[in-house]
Amino acid sequence: MKKLFLIISILSISYSCKNALDTSSKDKITTAKQHEFAIIIHGGAGTILKENLSEEKENEYKLKLEEAIRTGYAILKNGGTCQEAVVKTIQVMEESPLFNAGKGAVFTHEETNELDASFMDGETLNAGAVAGVMNVKSPIELALKIMTDSEHVMLSGEGASIFAKEKGLEIVDPSYFYTENRFKSLQRIKNKVKTELDHNDKKAAFYDADIKNSKFGTVGCVALDKDGNIAAGTSTGGMTNKRWGRIGDAPIIGSGTYANNKTCGVSSTGWGEYFIRSQVAYDISAQMEYQKKTLKEATKDVIQNKLTKLGGTGGVVALDNKGNMSFEFNTAGMYRASMNEKGELIVKIYKE
Ligand code: ASP
Repeated sequence: MKKLFLIISILSISYSCKNALDTSSKDKITTAKQHEFAIIIHGGAGTILKENLSEEKENEYKLKLEEAIRTGYAILKNGGTCQEAVVKTIQVMEESPLFNAGKGAVFTHEETNELDASFMDGETLNAGAVAGVMNVKSPIELALKIMTDSEHVMLSGEGASIFAKEKGLEIVDPSYFYTENRFKSLQRIKNKVKTELDHNDKKAAFYDADIKNSKFGTVGCVALDKDGNIAAGTSTGGMTNKRWGRIGDAPIIGSGTYANNKTCGVSSTGWGEYFIRSQVAYDISAQMEYQKKTLKEATKDVIQNKLTKLGGTGGVVALDNKGNMSFEFNTAGMYRASMNEKGELIVKIYKE
């Protein structure tokens, strides 16, 4: 009897050793570094169809995306930090009227522009976020400042502006954010919503009765630097016709932005209410950490399965600590670009 027990024990020990070896060799395959450094960006997702975008506009978007990503790439190539790369890249898009962030921010119901942004550092898990500022030129810079120069994670409205001023950030007149295009979009949506309410459709969506056909122009960036650190940031004007101080996902750490050196960095764009309820950015990281999923598997599950089932639309760009990249969206298109240490550039708009 004793002998039999001994044999069984030896067999089970050797079986578990073999399993342990199998797991570590499997880990080795998945932990191979793909890129020494890398950067990925988005300029919003939505119903972006080739037939609705003139060749000229398409080129304008592509050129601006390329300009933005090359800015971050140059920083990373010269040994700069992922933090600097993310902020400077996003600033290029904030300064362009093409995107719903900074200069091109959409209008609220009250015909103002209220900006949100967030930033997260994957090495320390520090984060900064701002919601509803109306006179700060670069909300992403303010999000970073809140992270580095305050003991808080999130500031909002008037207080956030005072903090920005105290820290010497550029303050602009709110009219800086006026663009004719965005103003017209607001009027169009207001009329549409009013018509539907007149027809007593109680279910009429506040933003746009046909929100599934909307475009989301938020901008975001994730970067992995030569030291192996990841940072992510997102900046937006929110949703056209938003009201009552509505805040979307973009300034919510875990929804619009997340970064963790252990796993990945993520920036989201889409219908914010659904991204908040799904905790999209954190869920991707958590699936990698706890379920050992690859970046591709995690982004696919969160966007194509979980978010879609809930009724949410939009997408993410994500980058893991080995330099693997993922663009995942359930809309017709997403303005997006990526670059790796070899200088290989991808700039795309439509689904392929
Ligand atoms: N996610 C943003 C929001 O809900 C909108 C966007 O992506 O453009 O505020």
